[in-house]
Amino acid sequence: NVILAIESSCDETSASICVDGKVMNNVIATQEIHSKYGGVVPELASRAHQQAIGPVVKEAMATANVTMSDLDAIAFTQGPGLLGALLVGGAFAKSMALALNIPLIGVHHMKAHILAHFIEEPKPKFPFLCLTVSGGHTQIVRVDDYLDMAILGQTTDDAVGEAFDKCAKLMGLPYPGGPLIDKLAKEGNENKFTFNETLMPGLDYSFSGIKTGFMNFLNKEKMKDPDFVEKNKKDLCASIQRHLIDMLLSKLELAARQERVNQVAIAGGVSANSGLRTKLEQLSKPNGWEVFIPRFEYCTDNAGMIGMTAHYQQLAGDTVPLTASPMPRMKF
Ligand code: ATP
Ligand code: MG
Ligand code: FE
Repeated sequence: NVILAIESSCDETSASICVDGKVMNNVIATQEIHSKYGGVVPELASRAHQQAIGPVVKEAMATANVTMSDLDAIAFTQGPGLLGALLVGGAFAKSMALALNIPLIGVHHMKAHILAHFIEEPKPKFPFLCLTVSGGHTQIVRVDDYLDMAILGQTTDDAVGEAFDKCAKLMGLPYPGGPLIDKLAKEGNENKFTFNETLMPGLDYSFSGIKTGFMNFLNKEKMKDPDFVEKNKKDLCASIQRHLIDMLLSKLELAARQERVNQVAIAGGVSANSGLRTKLEQLSKPNGWEVFIPRFEYCTDNAGMIGMTAHYQQLAGDTVPLTASPMPRMKF
């Protein structure tokens, strides 16, 4: 059984071939255009997807040695994401499904980030908790089966990746700033500075407060010394990263205790963060956790995870009609 999977929810155009539940490849075209605007520009993302999607799909099929007649289903990211970006992948997928007369599978992008854990070994066992941390989402999800999952807690405002990127921008770093904070933090003192943060009740998060706290702190220091940021960049990066990671992990610990689950996974672009990975490993011993972190390629947006999810959806008969349309705010 051969599935062609397409991802186009944000600023990565990606295609993957999945054969009998095995991800054969993962072709990704990253859009560089957004960096000079300090964030993803939706209109430009749609255009870039339109340019990339043909060649990306062609390459995925060629490197997996698959022809049109080999395909058994077409999967695409139906949401959540940018409308104009989702439309490109969706329209492409529908055209192929129509032409080849094969089923169409609409995949939920955030569920796919979680099922990225089943692309390679080691795989978590059910039930497990997944902390999904990306540019648009921050969620603690309880996963009872491939297609049976529920959100236990989530951000009420900004996503943690957004907080990384906005704090980076305040320090004059280019977009996306998350990876740069990670890099600079390695040489900084994470306990040098503290900022005001907002603690939400239960398992929910708020990241807009810490961003404002960070901004106010910088503004106050810059009044005293205009070069403050330049002189303290590494310590600032380490300190803001420490804050964000501690906020993420304290709720994850709470959730694991509450749910009595010892399989703990992270997913999404921010799970590439080396500080988060290290602290999660450190927490695993005292908590008795088995920790799962996907390879970097499968942390950020990729079609491999879409193919993986589509595999389980197809087994469950979960397909969509040709009238299916993108859902920018698709329900979990
Ligand atoms: P969503 O999946 O919610 O729709 P998205 O697809 O834009 O959002 P991803 O591509 O999964 O999100 O992740 C991108 C985010 O991950 C960006 O905010 C980026 O700064 C952040 N990120 C990537 N690498 C790192 C890192 N090493 N440290 C911190 N943040 C990082
Ligand atoms: Mg992205
Ligand atoms: Fe994503």
